[in-house]
Amino acid sequence: MSKGPEVYIDQSRQLREEDTFCFSCTPDRNCFTDCCYDLNLLLMPYDILRIKNRLGMKSSDFLKDYTKIYVGQNSGLPVVLLKMKEFYRNCPFLEKGKGCTIYEDRPGACRTYPLVRMACRSSDREGVDDFYYIIKEPGCEGFENGKRWTVREWIDNQGIGPYNEMNDIFGEILQAKTELGIPYLNADQIDIFDLGCYDIDGFRQYFLEGPSLERCMESEEVIEAISQDEVALLRYGMRWVKKKLFQVGS
Ligand code: SF4
Ligand code: SF4
Repeated sequence: MSKGPEVYIDQSRQLREEDTFCFSCTPDRNCFTDCCYDLNLLLMPYDILRIKNRLGMKSSDFLKDYTKIYVGQNSGLPVVLLKMKEFYRNCPFLEKGKGCTIYEDRPGACRTYPLVRMACRSSDREGVDDFYYIIKEPGCEGFENGKRWTVREWIDNQGIGPYNEMNDIFGEILQAKTELGIPYLNADQIDIFDLGCYDIDGFRQYFLEGPSLERCMESEEVIEAISQDEVALLRYGMRWVKKKLFQVGS
């Protein structure tokens, strides 16, 4: 995680699952929680789901109170940025003396640091080819006398797997947009994108509880599954966005 992580990425080494690195982030480090200040923390759809549930909020309220949504310059798609607190510019979930107050539900980027995941896709191949780079933030002491991890051990230890899985589905939308050569979305398309990807409670209301005819086109089994499982609903919502905006997928 960082103010501008790309500046500190070490691109000289691509790490695969069995490659190792040394790192330990513990409360006795002098830098403890320094990395939770003044950062650009983009939230992915699954981050939002986890945090809004942690806070016991509706997704629309969470987005309104805690985030800014804007259209990303590179992607041309809406992105969600966590708002830092005023004055000290600290993460809103950082509490002095306690650390991260949403630790079990912290965003994927916080879990993955000091690694950053690069996921590569191509139209002629199924699935994702991924590898990791190391990010070395100035002042981060975690590399000093750090424990040795394989990337796989780090992913398991930090609970990153479900985040990667959901981010890959989100990435399919960007891939579809890129392959179709669509530079930007209009206002109606942005609303659809926000609803299916970011506002999971709004999507439930629209798709499962409202008068939407689209629900009738779906099988009873699928409706049952996404009614009972919010993560399944988010997976469905992201694929609904991809199909609705780019006519890709089932
Ligand atoms: S070791 Fe690095 S990641 Fe851990 S608290 Fe310090 S700056 Fe943050
Ligand atoms: S979510 Fe937690 S770990 Fe991530 S920046 Fe905020 S306080 Fe730090």
